[in-house]
Order: sequence, then C-alpha cells, then structure tokens
Amino acid sequence: MKLSVEDRMDRLSLGICAVRIRLSKINRNHVPSGPKGGQFASGSGGGGIASGGAPEAKPDKSTPDAKPSSGSSYVKKPTYGNKPEADALVTSLGDADKTFKGDLGKFLEKYPLDKVTVMKDARRDPMLYRGAEAHYSGGAITVRPQSQSLMGPGSPSYYKGTTENVGDNLPTAKGRQSVAFLHEVGHHVFETVDAKTLNRVELKAGTAVILVATAAWKKGAKTAPSDYAKTSVREYFSEAFAAYHFEPGKLDATSRKLVETVMARAKGI
Ligand SMILES: [Zn+2]
Repeated sequence: MKLSVEDRMDRLSLGICAVRIRLSKINRNHVPSGPKGGQFASGSGGGGIASGGAPEAKPDKSTPDAKPSSGSSYVKKPTYGNKPEADALVTSLGDADKTFKGDLGKFLEKYPLDKVTVMKDARRDPMLYRGAEAHYSGGAITVRPQSQSLMGPGSPSYYKGTTENVGDNLPTAKGRQSVAFLHEVGHHVFETVDAKTLNRVELKAGTAVILVATAAWKKGAKTAPSDYAKTSVREYFSEAFAAYHFEPGKLDATSRKLVETVMARAKGI
C-alpha cells in the first residue's frame, strides 16, 4: 500500500516529535536550501528543498475547493490552506505597492506569484516544521499560520537587544507574519529580476542585480537590517525589502539604495 505524502509526514512527525529541538540560530523566515545554501537553485524557479530529502509542500487538503482570491492579479492560482489569512496577505500587497510607489503592483501583475499558502498546521510543511516562518520556491510562498508563529518577544530564540529578523520586534503575530510574507515577496522580486538580467546582457556591464546586491551587501554588512541579512546577498535583499516597507526610517542608506535599485530594475523588465 502506498502512503500519501501527508501520511508519510505524519509518521515522520511522530518520530521526530520526541527529539524536537528549537533551532534558535536558524533563519526563522525560511530554511535555506539549494546548492549554495541560498534559497534558490537558480533563477529558473528551481529552488525547492535540495537537502534532507523532504517532500515538497502540498496545499492543505482541508480546503480542496479553495477559490481564487477575489480581485487579486498578484497571484496566479488560488490561495490555499488558511484562506482568510492568505487572502489578507495577498490584499496587503496593495499597501506594500504604495510603499514602492506603484512599482511592486506593476511588477506582480507582470510576474505574479504562483500561489500563496498559509498552512493550517505548520507541522504539515517540512520547512515550517523545521522552524521556518515562511518560505519561497519557484514563485510559491508558504507561510506559517499566525497562531503557530515562532517569532517575537517571549520566543526562546528572541534575543533582546538584537534583531535576528526584521520583524522580530513587532508586537503581534499578525505583524510578524506580514513581515515574513514580505520577505518572501522580496525573494520573488529578486529572483525574477536576477533571472532576467544576471546571466546575460548586464553581467559584462557590471550592473547585474546580483552585483549591485553584492556590493551593497558587503558595504552594508555592518549596518544590515538584521543579523539574518548578513547570511547571503539574497537574504540581505529580502530583509531590506521587508524593512523598507515596514520600517523605512530605520533602514540604512545602503540597504535603501539596494531596494530602490532593484525595484528600478524591476520596472524595466
Ligand atoms: Zn529568505
């Protein structure tokens, strides 16, 4: 008899529960994967879970009849799982668009997200189960439900006086979930722009997104928007992207410039 992915996950979960530990130092926005420890294998939408052999996340089966979010042109497919939360996140992109002076909305209409899933039970998603707050893979964003948020004051992995992720100091689970979501949207922007510009024309001119980002990352490492931003160029951009929306005043000039440069590039593709 063949076990479904969910059945296998349940069995795995049961086995792991007894020795489950909190990984206080891991990225709580998502668990890096891919060949270079980054989240993406390439700009071609590969990504996914490269190490550990965990299965790809599936939409919550509890809402097989999920309908498309009304009025959203930012997501290709229906939102899944906890639909009210997923819809709220998609709707929040309208507000984020204002922060980015309309460029984010135009970009997402042209390069929409594949889908947005807020899991009803984080244990059913391998990466959330391992401690991530959200993750991005090939256009799809999966987010931990607010009720199971790991972040914030009181969490064992919250260090007073430091900010591991840009949303850590926000007082509500909803706020922290929104930051985690925006962080993943930042990955979508970066990966799309990067894929469209990095490997070809602009590399020789030295103006490819990845080079702009790397320069900003090196320059801004000391004043990075969060500790997690220091782990890679891509995470630097996503953290800066999220912070730009939520706390632009606290963002250093280098990070601000990076976000604005990539968004300007996004406009032209
Ligand atoms: Zn990330």
